[in-house]
Amino acid sequence: MEQIYVEKTASRGIAVAPVYLYLEPDLTPDGEKIPDTEVQAELEKFAAAKNTVINELKQLAEKNEIFAAHLEIADDFMLQDSVENKVKGELKNIQLAVSETIDEFAVIFDSMDDAYMKERAADVKDIGKRFMAALKGVKLPDLGGITEPSVVVARDMYPSDTVKIDTAFVKGILTEEGGVTSHVSIIAKSMGIPTLVGVKGILSKVQDGETVCMDAGAGCVVVQPDAENVRIYQEKKEAYEAERARLESLRGTPAVTKDGKRIYLCANVGNVQDIKNALPMNIDGVGLFRSEFLYMQNTHFPTEEEQYTVYKEAAELIPSELTIRTLDIGGDKELSYYEFEKEENPFLGWRAIRISLDMKDMFKAQLRAILRASAFGHVRIMFPMIISLDELRDAKALVEECKQELRAEGVAFDEEIEMGMMIETPASVILAEEFAREADFFSIGTNDLTQYILAVDRGNKKIAKKYDYFNPAVVKAIGRVIEAGHKEGIKVGMCGEMAGDQKAVELLLDLGLDEFSMSAGSVDYVREQILNRK
Ligand code: PEP
Ligand code: MG
Repeated sequence: MEQIYVEKTASRGIAVAPVYLYLEPDLTPDGEKIPDTEVQAELEKFAAAKNTVINELKQLAEKNEIFAAHLEIADDFMLQDSVENKVKGELKNIQLAVSETIDEFAVIFDSMDDAYMKERAADVKDIGKRFMAALKGVKLPDLGGITEPSVVVARDMYPSDTVKIDTAFVKGILTEEGGVTSHVSIIAKSMGIPTLVGVKGILSKVQDGETVCMDAGAGCVVVQPDAENVRIYQEKKEAYEAERARLESLRGTPAVTKDGKRIYLCANVGNVQDIKNALPMNIDGVGLFRSEFLYMQNTHFPTEEEQYTVYKEAAELIPSELTIRTLDIGGDKELSYYEFEKEENPFLGWRAIRISLDMKDMFKAQLRAILRASAFGHVRIMFPMIISLDELRDAKALVEECKQELRAEGVAFDEEIEMGMMIETPASVILAEEFAREADFFSIGTNDLTQYILAVDRGNKKIAKKYDYFNPAVVKAIGRVIEAGHKEGIKVGMCGEMAGDQKAVELLLDLGLDEFSMSAGSVDYVREQILNRK
């Protein structure tokens, strides 16, 4: 018996089942150099492989929209260019050319500071595997073939693996590599499969068919368990499932505190799929749609039309409330197709609303798309990183300009669209009363607010203990903002991580918070805390 601990949980839950070792065929490229005369034949092999891969991805994209992004990568002209250069210019055989290109692309993503973009490296590798399998004429292992209860153990798992999973049989997932915001984690969470990623050494510690116990919430795996371990984990599993059933049974109950205040429970999302995953939690709306993901997953600034399609679909999915935050790029979030000047202090630099107000055409394309989508639901516009009334006024003036254009074009939109702002800078706290007279709502972004109030970098592990939203300075700031908002009669929400922290619920209710917006997985827990409040 050995216990392995993992720091972060990808998807909570408990499993006790035999291991299904999920290992890939050898996809290392054959051969190296080719004579000039074979260049054309090699490129034809690539065209055929690309066809196969694109057809596979199209089928997968019908089941899960993550593959729409994969399709784009597979069809990317830079990938095609790089492969062709290696074959024509360096006379490399097609397998080597593709394998090198994929490695190079994955390194680019992997070297990005932003955690989300970093983990897109897994998507690139996934596409690479498909190309290599098509070129080598081998079949990739198929998780759809699992027909007995199992815990899948793999080096890493890719979105295309996870969508084939039948939850009746796959009881848990353990991977050596991967991060908690990787797509495997996101998909596993939405499927409710207990999952731990980054479990160091797991592949060498288990055999196919051997029982393994895992408690993903506690970040614990027991390999070669004895009978007592198995009994304990079975009991834990039953208790966990009973708790889940109880929490799910509360989903129909509106979150009203015992003293009668109706609290709005919303989700934070980065795309339409996240909304679909959050809907079963019976959310009251989306309190934060991080529109920057739409920009980061693209190869160009998304056009008005491209954005409109996404926002419209989102508004139709959750017509009760869809809060779209305008582009919050910069800081640690970069765009592959736009070169940001190197800055000494990116978090204090050219980011969020500062960029939008400087790049007016780009900003107006986004605002027009949001306005057009507002004809299909209760859409709200939210501006990030505001520090002055001038910024808020300039942003609102641009919305007005877009409204006038749309009116003149005869395009429908919500004339009364609400325009609110994130409270995530000390300046916005200090000026909260003034802002409350001009903004339609506030949403407190504790992730940034904490770092700026405490002067503690949110991503610096060395000072992670100091990064604490329970610090009285942050708590006082929150209280002050809620008070200022209420004084002017506007709703105050929170979309920073603190809103999904069960330990913070009581305090935030005491401070008078109206709306909690969090990742979907936290909604059931926060609802229970609210309903149980004494
Ligand atoms: C925040 O700062 O709290 C927030 C929600 O925004 P982000 O985490 O995207 O910066
Ligand atoms: Mg922020």
